[in-house]
Amino acid sequence: MNLVKMYLESRAWVEVNLCNLQNNVKAFQSVLPKECKIMAAVKANAYGHGAILVATHLQEYGVTHFCVASVQEGIDLRKAGIKGDILILSYTPKDQLDLLIEYDLIQTIVDMEYAFMLREFQKNLRVHVGIDTGMHRLGERAERIEEIAKIWEFKNLHIEGIFSHLCVADSLESEDVHYTKEQIKKFNQAIETLKAKGKSSFATHLQGSYGVLNYPECQYDYARLGISLYGALSSSKDQTKVNLDLKPVLTLKSRISCIKHLKVGEKVGYGLAFQAIEESDIAVVSIGYADGIPRNLSERGYVLCHGKKAPIVGRICMDQLFIDVTKIPESKTNDEVVMIGSQEKENISAEMVADCVGTISNEILSRLGNRLERIVTTPILFQSDPCK
Ligand SMILES: *Cc1c(COP(=O)(O)O)cnc(C)c1O
Repeated sequence: MNLVKMYLESRAWVEVNLCNLQNNVKAFQSVLPKECKIMAAVKANAYGHGAILVATHLQEYGVTHFCVASVQEGIDLRKAGIKGDILILSYTPKDQLDLLIEYDLIQTIVDMEYAFMLREFQKNLRVHVGIDTGMHRLGERAERIEEIAKIWEFKNLHIEGIFSHLCVADSLESEDVHYTKEQIKKFNQAIETLKAKGKSSFATHLQGSYGVLNYPECQYDYARLGISLYGALSSSKDQTKVNLDLKPVLTLKSRISCIKHLKVGEKVGYGLAFQAIEESDIAVVSIGYADGIPRNLSERGYVLCHGKKAPIVGRICMDQLFIDVTKIPESKTNDEVVMIGSQEKENISAEMVADCVGTISNEILSRLGNRLERIVTTPILFQSDPCK
């Protein structure tokens, strides 16, 4: 009842389709090697979907491994009752290291200098060793494997995994495929070298979404899935080797708060950027750039209203935006408007919004703001198998 109430009162909200989330988990399980487990990337509020909501349900679907970007994200999950492994993919400052222990979080070793710092901390820590195979972001360089191997001698560090990250796995251009294969090779060599030195009981992981979709032949212990688990690709232009039946989990909606009837020549909003060239009905929608709608979607994008496309006009404000509903005369105050998702026969994907403003869906989704309510739309309470 609570959910229904919230939904009715929201000015703007995110609907999370759990059937689609479960569908995506199953789709990946069907292509991942038997021994390979999903490590769900639930950083950045689960790419805007709501980290606690998503992780809680993923846990129900049998997902036991999660990765986040910060200690605080890990703590939030623990406080919400998330049990399995939680890996922090980035740097944790010295004065927050005690939190890793308190909340049983696994820390990434971002380079040798960081490994020494963790050793000085002296208390026992669970860690995964990051290895840089060519992205040159986090991880110690793979060429320095002899030094990396010394981390195993740091008695307070329990090395449970080693991993690397691919940086052009989304591209099927031959140059990029070559680069990715080199990264895979370097990672495998690092594993072999460590094993030859008698270090063995560590898990391995390399692939993110595109690593799995374009290099399904790889066999590691985990696949760190983010964007694809949410049923999106980064860009609608992306082709992948494996085509899974992934379904978008998120729908972003808002409401019409009022409608203005404009005379010819009247202008709208900041900068008076839109002018009515005919008598127009302009609806004000209660969502804006502070909710994560890119401001430069102004005058470019559209939304769905009564199953029809309504262009975004004028400048997008912090908390509202304008749409032209002249051709949708049935529009009225409080009507639902779809920013991302389907309505009747129309669909606006996160990829389409991203393409429209020259970015990737990851950015669009992960920036969806905290003001948005996150609501489960699956009628899970009412049917024994609602996803059928
Ligand atoms: C965010 C992240 C992922 C998930 O990437 P997707 O492309 O969204 O699947 C995987 N690995 C690392 C290191 C990340 O930072």
